[in-house]
Amino acid sequence: MDTNIPLSAQPRVVIVGCGFGGLKLAQALADAPVQVVVIDRNNYHNFQPLLYQVATGALEADSIAYPIRKIFTGQQNLFFRVADVQGVVPARNLLQTSIGEISYDYLVLATGSLTNFFGLESIERNARQIKSIPNALNLRSFLFENLEQALLTSNPAERQALLTIVVVGGGPTGVELSGSLAEMRRGVLPKDYPELDLQQMRIILVDEGAAVLKPMSTASQQDAQRYLEELGVELHFHTTIRSYEHKRAYFSATEYIETANLIWAAGVNGAAVPGLPDEALTRNKRLHVNRWNLVQGQTNIFAIGDVASMVTEAMPKGLPMLAPVAQQQASHLAANLQRLIHQQQPLNFTYRNKGVMAIVSRNQAVVDLPKQVHFKGFFGWLAWLFIHLILLVGFRNKAVALVDWAFAYFSSGQALRLIIQPLRPRGDDLGKRAAEVLAATPDYTAPPPAIQEPSLNSQEASCLAGD
Ligand SMILES: Cc1cc2nc3c(=O)[nH]c(=O)nc-3n(C[C@H](O)[C@H](O)[C@H](O)COP(=O)(O)OP(=O)(O)OC[C@H]3O[C@@H](n4cnc5c(N)ncnc54)[C@H](O)[C@@H]3O)c2cc1C
Repeated sequence: MDTNIPLSAQPRVVIVGCGFGGLKLAQALADAPVQVVVIDRNNYHNFQPLLYQVATGALEADSIAYPIRKIFTGQQNLFFRVADVQGVVPARNLLQTSIGEISYDYLVLATGSLTNFFGLESIERNARQIKSIPNALNLRSFLFENLEQALLTSNPAERQALLTIVVVGGGPTGVELSGSLAEMRRGVLPKDYPELDLQQMRIILVDEGAAVLKPMSTASQQDAQRYLEELGVELHFHTTIRSYEHKRAYFSATEYIETANLIWAAGVNGAAVPGLPDEALTRNKRLHVNRWNLVQGQTNIFAIGDVASMVTEAMPKGLPMLAPVAQQQASHLAANLQRLIHQQQPLNFTYRNKGVMAIVSRNQAVVDLPKQVHFKGFFGWLAWLFIHLILLVGFRNKAVALVDWAFAYFSSGQALRLIIQPLRPRGDDLGKRAAEVLAATPDYTAPPPAIQEPSLNSQEASCLAGD
């Protein structure tokens, strides 16, 4: 296979990843005297902050994704290839990819992050995650399929497990997902499933810490917590899920909650590309970078966004993994690369925090702005809608999202409750995966299997079990 990227007299900047950071950087280099090569394993840019809305049927997957080739139409100095980057060989300025080797003069890693299961193998194997569009579509199918299953079983324990959703991780993803599920339980499900007793349906949000939305202000944390409680989300703090086998989520050696729906939103690791020295990696697999985004120990390899760990005076643990950080670093690096090409000294990056927000449900969002300005409720929700609409790529996506949101607002219902990828076999052949899922269906009379790292006290245990 040949990558067929023409050689150029200009320096070649290879950007791995076309998420928030990679996209912005490639656009910012449109008029620079460089050849830009963008590589992504997908042929679309994914707007991750709205993945949970795809998972709960509020938005179409197509409205949060945008074809990369369409974004770069007319950008003469850019070549895009769909490929998986498997390694980097810094000594030879070479990338190893699924379509062959690609050389670079400057390499920018903008590969984002991956779900961190903290080495808990049973959770990685059996829980659902929400990091990509396929994940979100699968989760949607899975949730609705379990509701269909709940109608069919005559075993009360099995029905309760099918109607119990446990979300692990009280960050923005966990909060937004739990809020959206609780809203669905209140608005849409009674109409769709009049035969189900939805009083039985439990939405449980679990976190190891003492509050939701840890990086936000105390006021936002408390408001979000109140909104969730009003929606009937059960909050369990100081609680760690340690394993998940046979639809039992264990939080101590013998104590568990039966749930067919465990959603893991408890953390992420940097998606570093193999080939860089271990010293360049942080504990959660991000790359140490300096204030120019230069990877530690390298002279022409940069990292931006989630995969980069940049420590500043204000943020000694590294800048947060947020879309604005990736975008601002991209713009800054575009200018610095041009300085380097003109043999000028690069400039240090400074993060401008323009605010953070999280939505819980309709009319309920929390917003923290700089200078300790906090607002919430309807105006917070409007601000959230407005910002996300602006940030979505492409007019069509903005228009479709707006229509979907308006429909949901006025009808109290998510429109897209389709089971696209069923996990249980039907009359047709759904293959190996369906058989695996079926094989994992628990025997509700079986003794619990052995688990790892028991620790929680009995008070927390009985609290989670709903005693
Ligand atoms: C569910 C969810 C909700 C979020 N909500 C918010 C929010 O409300 N506000 C906020 O600011 N941030 C939010 N974030 C975080 C935000 O999405 C990230 O900070 C942002 O996407 C980081 O941008 P990035 O460019 O570093 O990486 P990404 O946007 O993740 O892009 C990485 C790209 O690299 C590609 N890639 C990775 N590895 C390879 C490889 N080996 N070969 C080829 N291609 C590769 C991927 O396909 C992807 O396109 C959320 C994240 C998630 C998952």
